[in-house]
Amino acid sequence: MNLELSAEQTAVRRLARDFVARAITPNVIAWDRAEDVDRSIVKKLGDVGFLGLTVDEEFGGSGGDHLAYCLVTEELGRGDSSVRGIVSVSLGLVAKTIASWGSEEQKRQWLPGLTSGEYVGCFGLTEPGTGSDAGNLSTRAVRDGDDYLISGSKMFITNGTWADVVLLFARSTDAPGHKGVSAFLVPADTPGLTRRTIHGKLGLRGQATAELALADVRVPASAMLGPEGKGFAVAMSALAKGRMSVAAGCVGIAQAALEAAVTYATEREQFGKSIARHQLVQELISDIAVDVDAARLLTWRVADLVDRGEPFATESSKAKLFASEAAVRAANNALQVFGGYGYIDEYPVGKLLRDARVMTLYEGTSQIQKLVIGRALTGVSAF
Ligand SMILES: Cc1cc2nc3c(=O)[nH]c(=O)nc-3n(C[C@H](O)[C@H](O)[C@H](O)COP(=O)(O)OP(=O)(O)OC[C@H]3O[C@@H](n4cnc5c(N)ncnc54)[C@H](O)[C@@H]3O)c2cc1C
Repeated sequence: MNLELSAEQTAVRRLARDFVARAITPNVIAWDRAEDVDRSIVKKLGDVGFLGLTVDEEFGGSGGDHLAYCLVTEELGRGDSSVRGIVSVSLGLVAKTIASWGSEEQKRQWLPGLTSGEYVGCFGLTEPGTGSDAGNLSTRAVRDGDDYLISGSKMFITNGTWADVVLLFARSTDAPGHKGVSAFLVPADTPGLTRRTIHGKLGLRGQATAELALADVRVPASAMLGPEGKGFAVAMSALAKGRMSVAAGCVGIAQAALEAAVTYATEREQFGKSIARHQLVQELISDIAVDVDAARLLTWRVADLVDRGEPFATESSKAKLFASEAAVRAANNALQVFGGYGYIDEYPVGKLLRDARVMTLYEGTSQIQKLVIGRALTGVSAF
């Protein structure tokens, strides 16, 4: 197996690293403190082609394979997970899902705007009462002539207040559980749709996370994405690739933790020598390094499977499970290397730990990933 990157993949990684150094790193502390990433970053991400990766050029995409997408996602995660999440959701969960499931008309309506950064997309699955048990969601879409009227509420929606289009999941038939769920593309300015920013998050503070309320939101029947009753399959197919993207972002967090820990350990002196000379500090650093490599290899394996058209959902869950737990460990170990300074937000590692913490929760908690992996191995569903 050849793990060497192609010339194109190396170039796109360098482009992403330069982009992060120029457009993200100088702003990270300010955005975190202000709980607000500057929205102009979306257009910049579009201009450089990062919002169109893997999408056909015919629809405004910038092409590239899934490994290139993971390399860019890792670099963005190394820079700022709040920005990485904008791409993972608007491109990874919304645009790519429209590219896979959409009609020609839906692709023409939404993809050029999403891939250029003119539009932002959000993914509305979670509700106040249903998180892990998303198949039992209760938002309803009731047929009314040629339209549907959608009512309900959505919780913790990344990009929620910024979004121009919501990929929304609602119950459109009386079939029980996930069988009654359909997917809809809802313009965010449709009357009856209101949004409220959720403040006070532990991490990802710069990201626009929102609660959505829908009261008789009218959309044409043509807004349905995929067949009626297949909304849960649409959501799960999006999340299978989304978990790869979260895993790549977690590799970026762990890589940033490693770089910060190594630099600090060689500069800081205690007991008359650099702390890098203390073996227990080297242990912390080597633990981070092993986590980085293992998480990256698991993530690249998923990208390779996707690019070769092989089944990848279980491997994506494995990568997401390991990489998210590894990112938390790596950031925590890096904070230990920094001692008390790690606890202050002028230094990068505290934010890495706060941002990493949600990775074991969203797009399926670690417990849910274990149930997905266990079901694939045993053939028995524990859901
Ligand atoms: C910052 C942030 C951004 C998010 N962005 C989005 C988004 O863009 N779109 C979206 O739709 N959602 C989003 N989410 C929601 C996220 O996906 C959910 O929070 C997640 O799926 C968990 O659901 P819950 O919070 O309701 O927890 P619960 O489902 O209530 O789980 C609580 C605990 O119970 C455990 N548990 C539940 N069921 C089982 C089981 N069967 N076996 C073992 N343990 C179990 C869980 O692992 C967890 O530890 C976001 C969340 C956050 C915090």
